[in-house]
Amino acid sequence: MTMASDTKMIPQSGLLSAEANQAAALAAYGGVLTVDLDAIIANWRKLEKTAVPAECSAVIKADAYGCGAEQVSRALSKAGCKTFFVATIEEARKVRGAVPDAAIYVLGGYFQNTGEHYASINCRPVIGDLNELAEWDVFCRRTGWNGGAAIHVDTGMNRLGLTLAEAQAIIPRINAGDHGITLVMSHLVSAEQLNNPVNAKQLAAFRSIASEFSGVPAALANSSGIFLGAPFQFDLVRPGAALYGVNPTPEADNPMQPVVDLKARIVQIRNVERGETVGYGGTWTARRPTRLAIIAVGYADGYFRAASSNDGTRGAEVIAAGKRCPVAGRVSMDLIAIDITDLPPNAARRGHLVTLIGEGITVDELAHHFGTIGYEVLTSLGHRYARIYKGGNVVESLTKPEPLPAADQPLAPPPLDKPVSPPPLPT
Ligand SMILES: *Cc1c(COP(=O)(O)O)cnc(C)c1O
Repeated sequence: MTMASDTKMIPQSGLLSAEANQAAALAAYGGVLTVDLDAIIANWRKLEKTAVPAECSAVIKADAYGCGAEQVSRALSKAGCKTFFVATIEEARKVRGAVPDAAIYVLGGYFQNTGEHYASINCRPVIGDLNELAEWDVFCRRTGWNGGAAIHVDTGMNRLGLTLAEAQAIIPRINAGDHGITLVMSHLVSAEQLNNPVNAKQLAAFRSIASEFSGVPAALANSSGIFLGAPFQFDLVRPGAALYGVNPTPEADNPMQPVVDLKARIVQIRNVERGETVGYGGTWTARRPTRLAIIAVGYADGYFRAASSNDGTRGAEVIAAGKRCPVAGRVSMDLIAIDITDLPPNAARRGHLVTLIGEGITVDELAHHFGTIGYEVLTSLGHRYARIYKGGNVVESLTKPEPLPAADQPLAPPPLDKPVSPPPLPT
C-alpha cells in the first residue's frame, strides 16, 4: 500500500517506526480514501473476458470517476489496456504522460480551433456533428495531421452524435478510403435495464450504420451494455463505472469487485441524555441515553446531506468496530454524528477510523441513501481525504499533503483494518 504523497514532505520522526510515521501523516486528514488499483485491473480483466474478442477500453473521464485518472490509466495500461476515453482535451493532456502509447479519445466533441491541442498530445476527437467534422477536416488538411478521430452516431440518446441520415451521407467518403476515421460509436440510453426494448432498437440502428462504415472499428457498449450480450459488443467496448466497482447489472448481483474504501476519523465520543436532539435543526432525538461518535467527514467531502436521519426516517449507516451504526441527525459540512450506543464500551474511541464505504457498504448502497447513482457517489468523492493507492505497482502519486505541525507527543498508529506498509524506499 502506498501513501499518495511525496513522503519527503512529511517530517519523519526518528523516534517512530515507518508505520507510525505514516499513521501520523494520515492523522492530518479527517478521512482516508483507499483506491484499490488491483481491483480496478481485475474488473477490467473480467470485462475484457466477457467481451472477447472485442477490445476492452477504459473510460477515465472525471478523474477516472474520482479514482485518479493518472493512477488508473497507468495501472490499466500496464495490464494491457490500449484505448482510453476522457471527456475533455484537458483531461486527455493530464493522462497523456501516464500512457504515452495509448489511444485517447475525447468524448466531448470538437471545438473550433482546438486542432493543435489534439495534435500536440496526439489524442482523437469524438466528432458528433457535421460542423465539427468540417472544422476537423479543415484542420487536418491545413496541417497534414492524421491522428484519427471517432464518429459518434446518435441512436436514441439525443445528446451528441450525427443523425442516422447524416452518418449515411458520409459513407461515400468512408468508402473512398483515407478518411482518418478510426472508430464509429454510439451510446446506449438504458443499458442497465435488460428488458428495455430501447436496447434492441438502438442495436438495430447502430448495426446497420456500423456495417456501412467498412473497415472502421465499431463501439456501442458502456459497462452495462457489455452484459447485454455479444451482439452489443462489436469491436470495442467502453466500460467506465464497472471498472470502479459500480454494479453494471443492477437487476442482479454485482459481478465487479469493490474498488474504493473510505474511512473517517472519530474526533469525539459524547453521551447525550434521552430527549436531547443532535445536529442542525434538532431533527433527530435520542430515544434512550445515547453514545455518539462524531466523525470528521461531511457533505463537503461528498457524503451527501441526503444521507441524514431524523425522527421519522433512517439515514445511512457507518461501520464502527465492525458493526453498522446509524447516522444520527443531519450530515453537516465537515462532521457527522453516528449512534454507537450498541457497541461494547470503548470499542470505538477518539482517533479510531470508521468505515463509510467498504466492509460491505457499497458505493451503490450509499447512492441509494444519497438519492442518486453510484456514478455520482464516486465523482463526488472529496479532495480532503488522504489518498492511498493499493496495488497496480504504483509508487508515485500527486496529492501532496501539507507538512504536519510538530506533534508534542508521538501518535499511536490508527487502527486501520489492514496493516499499512512502510513508505517505498527511494530508488
Ligand atoms: C461515460 C461514457 C461511457 C462509460 O459509461 P459507464 O456506464 O460508466 O460504463 C461510455 N461511453 C460514453 C459515450 C460515455 O459518455
